[in-house]
Amino acid sequence: MPEGDTIHYAARRIRTALVGHHIRSLETPHPRHRFDRWPERLAGRSVEAVDAHGKHLFVRFTGDLTLHSHLRMTGKWGVYAPGQRWRRSPRRAWLVIRTDEHEVVQFDGPVLELMTDSRTRFDQRLAALGPDVLADELDERAFLRRLREDDPTRGIGDALLDQRTVAGIGNLWKAEACFATGLDPWRRTAEVPDAEALAAVRAARDAMRQSVERGLRVKPAVYDRAGLPCPRCDTRVRARGQGEDNRTTFWCPRCQA
Ligand SMILES: [Zn+2]
Repeated sequence: MPEGDTIHYAARRIRTALVGHHIRSLETPHPRHRFDRWPERLAGRSVEAVDAHGKHLFVRFTGDLTLHSHLRMTGKWGVYAPGQRWRRSPRRAWLVIRTDEHEVVQFDGPVLELMTDSRTRFDQRLAALGPDVLADELDERAFLRRLREDDPTRGIGDALLDQRTVAGIGNLWKAEACFATGLDPWRRTAEVPDAEALAAVRAARDAMRQSVERGLRVKPAVYDRAGLPCPRCDTRVRARGQGEDNRTTFWCPRCQA
């Protein structure tokens, strides 16, 4: 599943391709959008800004219209030169925006909607989001407040995945951040001091910011390495489903005791 760093990286590339460039065409090939008339509604408008919050991406057009996207498990953004081969089939394209120099393509949705700016502000899903882990200034007080308002019996690893507490961290960076700071993902949040919870979020933020800069991920220490030796102590990395969604968490039982 794409995490906040992937979305921020995509936002950066889409921003470069669209902001300040004349839009030659906009198409919505997917049948779901056949009757939405986005090409007509967006005709003649230009893109003012492209931004991300957590795993949500916003393409903001002049005249108060914003495209909101969330990739969930399946979606993908691509930015190509005209004529360059797309990395997914054109049949999977939901949105194609063309300028003289770029083709910006959204594949496989699954959340792609056109909304007014005021609706993006009052949309409950968006209003409920915690502070963006990749914001220029991380709002640490808001993170701690939301963490402490959450169920104190919840494991800290599970709590860090809750987008209402902090937005943008997914399963990979959660596992890596807990490992980097020696935090046991199974410890109840009530037993995790503020300083340790903050250290984990800062570790996730640092690693994710590097990923945004480089557009690629470092080799994980524990994520997806069940049964393999811990890079620090050689103990076998463990894996088990955690939380309501049963997302697999990976940890070293010795370094993160
Ligand atoms: Zn270890």
